[in-house]
Amino acid sequence: MIVIIGNGIASERALSELFKKERGDVTLIKGEPYGPYPRPRLPEYVKGSVSRSLFTEDKLTKYAEKGLNVIASNATSIDVRNKSVTLSDKKEISYDALIIATGSRARNLSLPTDGLVPHTLRTLSDADEIIATCENKKNPVVVGAGLLGLELASAIKEKCGSRVSVIESAEHLLPRQLDEKSSLFFEKLLKEKGIDIIKGSAPKAYGKDSVLLEDGRDISCDALFESVGVIPDIEIAKNTGIATERAIIIDSHAMTSVKDVYAVGDAASYSGLCPGLVYFALETARVAAINADGGAEELKLMAPSAVIEVSGIPAYSIGDIRTHSDVKIHENGNRYEALYLDGEKRLVGSVAVGSRANMLKAQKMLKKEVDLSLLDF
Ligand SMILES: Cc1cc2nc3c(=O)[nH]c(=O)nc-3n(C[C@H](O)[C@H](O)[C@H](O)COP(=O)(O)OP(=O)(O)OC[C@H]3O[C@@H](n4cnc5c(N)ncnc54)[C@H](O)[C@@H]3O)c2cc1C
Repeated sequence: MIVIIGNGIASERALSELFKKERGDVTLIKGEPYGPYPRPRLPEYVKGSVSRSLFTEDKLTKYAEKGLNVIASNATSIDVRNKSVTLSDKKEISYDALIIATGSRARNLSLPTDGLVPHTLRTLSDADEIIATCENKKNPVVVGAGLLGLELASAIKEKCGSRVSVIESAEHLLPRQLDEKSSLFFEKLLKEKGIDIIKGSAPKAYGKDSVLLEDGRDISCDALFESVGVIPDIEIAKNTGIATERAIIIDSHAMTSVKDVYAVGDAASYSGLCPGLVYFALETARVAAINADGGAEELKLMAPSAVIEVSGIPAYSIGDIRTHSDVKIHENGNRYEALYLDGEKRLVGSVAVGSRANMLKAQKMLKKEVDLSLLDF
């Protein structure tokens, strides 16, 4: 029996791999009432551009017909010695192989407040709450200008029909994906679309109708949202003997420190890498499913990359954009591109804002000598 805990993108990928063959010995323990559903598309739902049914559609019946056993409950503990999982109703489920796909939850700043309560976006019910909160609001503020923060800001701007302010404690937005120049360029385009970035100071407290920053600025606000990172949901692995750091440590077979127990997606950490992104969830889940079923597959992770789209502005960041000897910049109207080269003129990373025309070519060029004539400017 293979048991999977969690019903997000990673467990969906694991199921599709396991059910390539006919089999009837898989159990899925699902904590959320819906799902699996495409979590990255929640901002589009907030915006109103996709319907709720995209998230509530039943993706499990086709597997249930092939023998999948679905249990709608929370797993509360794992006994690795007896190879069993306990559910919230105390029922025990035995496994031969276990896949932990519990994902992550939104981090909160937990600041003192005089009235404003921040909302976070992680689940469909969070999205429903945010939609209700946006009604008749004209001064929305999002804390955090990372990938999710900007997507959320764009969705809220559409929903409220007003400008939106985004507070970022770092000196520039998308600090994980962009460098200073490309982020300033992105910021300029976002401003034109109604998204104002307030940088360089973190919120200190929330008032009745404003956000107080550490540097003393007071930002008017009638609806507050936080997007300040995620915390891997790994409580279930604690005190079991399964080694953890920020998330559950896995090896190149997606196996944890305990034999026959695998971890995938946002709940897993491989060689210190715990990106909280879809590409990592899909690959760790593919490998865990094959190996839980007796295979010997290894992770094949691509160079870190981020495909970005905020308010219709396309962008990307691939490879290493921090360590380089030379940079080639191309700027033209609403388009900015930078290619980062090592001492041997090989491409180590690239960012672009305003266009993704060169993304696939740049990806193929990584670690090779740059040939500008192949790129489209
Ligand atoms: C708004 C938003 C936008 C995003 N945009 C992007 C993007 O553009 N690009 C990108 O690469 N990534 C994006 N991400 C991140 C991406 O969604 C995650 O990396 C991905 O969902 C991780 O999948 P997962 O299956 O590991 O975890 P999750 O999707 O978090 O699923 C885990 C599931 O397990 C359940 N669970 C947890 N504990 C238990 C338990 N004890 N028992 C039973 N069930 C349990 C949870 O309820 C949940 O349903 C975005 C995320 C959000 C929230």
